Amino acid sequence: MKISIIGTGYVGLITGVCFAELGNNVICIDINEEKVNKINSGEPTIYERGLEEIFKKNLERIKASLNFNEILNTDITFICVSTPENPDGSINLDYIKSASESVGKVLKEKGYHLVVVKSTVVPETTEKVVIPILEKFSEKNVGEDFGVCMNPEFLKEGSAIKDFMEPDRIVIGEFDKKSGDMLFNLYKDFKCPILRTDLKTAEMIKYASNAFLSMKISFINEMGNICKKLGINIYKVAEGMGYDERIGHKFLRAGPGFGGSCFKKDVNALIKKAESLGYEPKILKSVLEVNERQPLKMIELLKKYLQNLKNKKIGVLGLSFKPETDDIRESPAIKIVKKLLEEEAIVNAYDPKAMNNFKKLFPNINYFSSAQDCIENSEAVLIVTDWDEFKDLDYSDKIVIDGRYIISKEKAKIYEGICW
Ligand code: NAD
Repeated sequence: MKISIIGTGYVGLITGVCFAELGNNVICIDINEEKVNKINSGEPTIYERGLEEIFKKNLERIKASLNFNEILNTDITFICVSTPENPDGSINLDYIKSASESVGKVLKEKGYHLVVVKSTVVPETTEKVVIPILEKFSEKNVGEDFGVCMNPEFLKEGSAIKDFMEPDRIVIGEFDKKSGDMLFNLYKDFKCPILRTDLKTAEMIKYASNAFLSMKISFINEMGNICKKLGINIYKVAEGMGYDERIGHKFLRAGPGFGGSCFKKDVNALIKKAESLGYEPKILKSVLEVNERQPLKMIELLKKYLQNLKNKKIGVLGLSFKPETDDIRESPAIKIVKKLLEEEAIVNAYDPKAMNNFKKLFPNINYFSSAQDCIENSEAVLIVTDWDEFKDLDYSDKIVIDGRYIISKEKAKIYEGICW
């Protein structure tokens, strides 16, 4: 099939590259000229394990453009633009609205076409925001002249290609059967359950999933904070819990809290949506409160040993919000570095992939070209992200606050685990 992707960020690029790998022709449309040029010169715009290989393998089937008229040469358009937070936590639909307008204008000139919303949008958005804009600017009718689906994306950064190619499930929210059938056809060879629903159910499945996963992390962190006071290792507790099939082992790794571009903004957006409906979502609010405080526990522990951090050299290992990505959005390292700077510490930092992104936020801290150098130049070290390479370093004469349970107590002069 011929596919256009609107918004070639994380989700858009992975979606485009993976559909190309499956034999489709893909045109990536973005408003960011730098991204478009980079893609056309054969370079992926983000780091993600395995992306470069399959991107380069499929160069003939992937093109990028700033011109929305490219949609005319395609059968399906996926809208993958960002849906960030407004200052009050509610969802900002500006990019969705402007992308829908641009798509609508092109649909005016086109025969039947399927528009698929892949961005995460709060329930009712596709029906009440996207479709009216598409109809207005195309001067056509949904269900007759064009189809609409809502197809949430569940990929995880760090394993995005695998998650896209071998998903746990595919959710197709459909305006009508014709739209759903067309999208189903694109996904028909995937070996996973394909759930077909109405539009707002598909939107809610994405929010309920992210809210549940965020809750699982805040829950285990809360258990971990209690365990820390009791001298109990939360990792043993989590292991014992996880054998229960109803609980499972995944997402029970206590640490400095969740980051990433999605969990916080999606939980906030759901809170705001619920409140607009007259419902107060107490669990969701607690999930965010626990997460807000969690990274700073590492500094509280550090202060047991270095009461005054002024002019103390503190190493921060790991800046991305999780390993195998260069994404620092909402990373616990941001809160930690901010706090260290407030306390006038000298911050030494290292990350295998995320230093360039971090430098944009914190240009004036010290960056090291290796983790060992960073350790050697610091009095104390905070392990914030669980990159594999942090496991086998020499921490022997340092104070180590381990946020990820990745080194043993014996490896450091003084060792504190965040929740153990
Ligand atoms: P991103 O910020 O990386 O990329 C968005 C892209 O859209 C940018 O390249 C931007 O230039 C482009 N854009 C903005 N407005 C545009 C317009 N009017 N026309 C064309 N392009 C436009 O965002 P992302 O992380 O890929 O997320 C996209 C959506 O997918 C969000 O709703 C997000 O919640 C959801 N999502 C993200 C992930 C993830 O892990 N990143 C996972 C699942 C779902």
